Amino acid sequence: MPEIQIGGLVPFTTIDYPGKLAAVLFLRGCPLRCAYCSNRHLLDLGDGEYDPEKVFDFLRARVGKLEAVVFSGGEALMQSDALIEYMRRVKDLGFAIGLHTNGFYPEQLQRASEIVDWVGLDFKTTRENYRALVGNDIAYDRMVACLDTWLKTGHGLEVRTTCDPHFVSKSDLLEIAKILAARGVKNFAVQKYVPHFDDERDATTAADREQFFNDTEYRNKINAMFDTVIWRE
Ligand code: SF4
Repeated sequence: MPEIQIGGLVPFTTIDYPGKLAAVLFLRGCPLRCAYCSNRHLLDLGDGEYDPEKVFDFLRARVGKLEAVVFSGGEALMQSDALIEYMRRVKDLGFAIGLHTNGFYPEQLQRASEIVDWVGLDFKTTRENYRALVGNDIAYDRMVACLDTWLKTGHGLEVRTTCDPHFVSKSDLLEIAKILAARGVKNFAVQKYVPHFDDERDATTAADREQFFNDTEYRNKINAMFDTVIWRE
């Protein structure tokens, strides 16, 4: 079996798994090429910078101090068997297992559902805008398949949309919220777009980025569709 390739580690976080102190592992490899990706150094499935056994020893030493380990990326599910095996070992230490995913691998997500307790799923934009944002024709349908797969498990779920004004308008976000509410999603997170690169050709303004957050009537309309909405600014 191939060894898991780990490209990054956050040893302590309070914001990446709801209600739990967690560590986050960033796995190498991603099938998408999002315009706003801030983890471009992780996109190729090359050798990980971290020795998986040393990371495992680190996690074992955190038993009783941390409550959860979150697998992020890149796209963690791209590493399929190596990921599942490693997750199982980490779960056996007693940690809750979280997964941040872009939703490109519904079959792998189904397999991981025996181990993973909570998922943060990216619903990046509308079907019409998906290809332009992520550079892939089939990503939207796969993401929706992942959403339905995970909803069936009844396990913890947060769906997130990052509001890059190049690809998400206020009416787009409303459309996404309606789709999610109709499918039975309870927890939605609206994330502010933070530009990571100089985009001199088509720069966004602070007002573009804040338009989703400073309209109380609009926020209330979305809040009313879910049990919880986190407005992550
Ligand atoms: S899914 Fe995430 S890691 Fe992959 S390209 Fe998009 S933003 Fe980057």
